[in-house]
Amino acid sequence: MIWDALETGLADLAAEGLLRRRRVLDSPCGPDAVVDGQQCIAFCSNDYLGLANHPAIIAAAQQAAAQWGVGSGASHVVSGHLRPHEQLEERLAAFVGRERALYFTTGYMANLAIVPALVERQDAIFADRLNHASLIDAALLSRAEHIRFPHGDMDALAARLQQSHARRKLIVTDAVFSMDGDLAPLPTLFQLAERFDAWLVVDDAHGFGVLGPQGRGSIAHFQLPPSPRLILMGTLGKAAGVSGAFVAGSSLVIEWLIQRARPYIFTTASSPIMAAALQTSLDLIASGDERRAHLQHLIHRLQSGCKELSWRLLASSTAIQPVLIGENQAAVQLSMQLLQRGFWVPAIRPPTVPAGTARLRISLSAAHTEAHIDGLIAAIQDCHAHVAC
Ligand SMILES: *Cc1c(COP(=O)(O)O)cnc(C)c1O
Repeated sequence: MIWDALETGLADLAAEGLLRRRRVLDSPCGPDAVVDGQQCIAFCSNDYLGLANHPAIIAAAQQAAAQWGVGSGASHVVSGHLRPHEQLEERLAAFVGRERALYFTTGYMANLAIVPALVERQDAIFADRLNHASLIDAALLSRAEHIRFPHGDMDALAARLQQSHARRKLIVTDAVFSMDGDLAPLPTLFQLAERFDAWLVVDDAHGFGVLGPQGRGSIAHFQLPPSPRLILMGTLGKAAGVSGAFVAGSSLVIEWLIQRARPYIFTTASSPIMAAALQTSLDLIASGDERRAHLQHLIHRLQSGCKELSWRLLASSTAIQPVLIGENQAAVQLSMQLLQRGFWVPAIRPPTVPAGTARLRISLSAAHTEAHIDGLIAAIQDCHAHVAC
């Protein structure tokens, strides 16, 4: 039957330890989680500043629901572009220091919008091997040649750019790599984009709100100039604690996206509630130095607490702190043992990460306390001792 392949496929995934299982939470996003009925401390979310459940943002959402209703009713280019959307875009553009910004329902959609709007069949995309899945899908959708270079290898990228005879070139990278937590060498990437007259698309899903002065993101962290060739994508469901994403750049690029980007045009605008909530979130991000300092403090505390383990903590200075395990089953088992001890840390396996590099992905948030971190370290050491003997 037509579905036999699916049954075999699922059985194969199960045999390889690759089945994904959704757990049901009976608590809002935050460190104190109730998952499948069990109380635990969660280290899973990308809510880096602890804003997902912030009372001021909730109040803004409630007020917006009363004033604007729930649905936007149409796409932005028909009748779904409400005042809160417009205001949000103006504020985002000013915050990241670019001419214009465009608000999207999700980061996945924003990436699918940007890349195919800028390059097509005769063109080439130069992508870091560890880029997010949405950027890979965006490249496929564009039909441009997809040239991937080894993670962070700028010499390899320069060589590939040099060899290329593509009509247009587009370099694309995560700013903070989502499963490793390390930073892309954005200044060098920008220099290469200038040298080879390429676009540079920077996906700042994990940097926006966290890095740079006032949380303005990775571009601000590295002090890159607001060049027309530089296009920034930031997500608003992670540090911003709500949902959606934005693209920021020159007026020209943003106008082009409004006219040509199919994932922008052919989808219903997200709820005005989100756009209003996000404006309050932007205020909290801008005034969030204390939150960011606390997060940094927790990152250092975790790193020094994990020094004596034989499992390697990847070289990350961000809130994403992966512990490299290797085998899929071992990573899943460790994740389960931690959950039994009351700590929820997801195991990340292929195809999200390369084969043989399954890991625990510890995500820290400003909502965590020192006691949460110390508890997690003790639980990891306890599991480690059991594996070692
Ligand atoms: C999460 C993420 C996305 C997708 O953003 P969503 O708003 O969740 O769709 C894109 N790129 C990177 C690097 C991400 O981590």
